[in-house]
Amino acid sequence: MSKIFAVANQKGGVGKTTTCVNLSASLVASKRRVLLIDLDPQGNATMGSGVDKSELQLSSYDVLASLLPPRKAIVQTSSGYDLMPANIDLSAAEVELLEMDGRESRLRQALVEISDDYDYIIIDCPPSLNMLTVNALCAAGSVLIPMQCEYYALEGLSALIDTITQIQKAANPGLKIEGILRTMYDPRNSLTGDVSDQLNEYFGDRLYRTCIPRNVRLAEAPSFGKPALEYDRTSKGAIAYLALAGEITRRESTAKHDNHNSGPRP
Ligand code: ADP
Ligand code: MG
Repeated sequence: MSKIFAVANQKGGVGKTTTCVNLSASLVASKRRVLLIDLDPQGNATMGSGVDKSELQLSSYDVLASLLPPRKAIVQTSSGYDLMPANIDLSAAEVELLEMDGRESRLRQALVEISDDYDYIIIDCPPSLNMLTVNALCAAGSVLIPMQCEYYALEGLSALIDTITQIQKAANPGLKIEGILRTMYDPRNSLTGDVSDQLNEYFGDRLYRTCIPRNVRLAEAPSFGKPALEYDRTSKGAIAYLALAGEITRRESTAKHDNHNSGPRP
């Protein structure tokens, strides 16, 4: 069974897509099988993975709107992860879904048949709490929330946490917060330290120890259609995402270890 992460934050420009592309590449570097699902009509994760969004035959739109078997829409990327691409067509799905039965769980339904093909499925959400994000949250086991350490970021976080709570109640009781990721991190800014302290207090070990620094290589890499790991593997940004993948896979093995230890004793 794959672990399914929705990478969500209704605020735009906080590093969701950057996290999806670079975390996918870094998990591949740790020998994990990864599928990245682009669920944003802007198609930034698609372009950032080196796939031209204007030339898609099939995309996540077809999977959501017509329940196309996902394998038909999935393409391979040069970075070693698979991609279910998206483009502006997906904005139609947002509207069409409203009329459909089981509209929140179309993605969850579609992913059942590929859930053994991958170790991780990472979903890049659009910058709003719309039906596409709701589909991602219903399909996911957990939510990874990238955020910048600014004052208003905390305000936005409570709307997201409310949505997560509603989805837990209505459709996906197992949904967890996987982790809060500090992006574009600048330790010299004193507000960053204050917000970081508050996040630590509230989320404890759900706050990733890894922080993603502001790094120009991370901003440049998408225009070459590459994760930073491929564009400049020695950059601080690439190294930070490798560290994040390490933190995530260590959590995975700690969880296995804990499950094992809590099993019946002879
Ligand atoms: P979102 O998907 O949340 O809208 P993006 O990942 O597209 O956010 O990031 C917004 C912009 O900031 C993009 O231009 C991206 O290249 C840039 N960016 C993201 N993370 C970083 C970082 N750590 N350092 C520098 N630039 C970044
Ligand atoms: Mg994005």
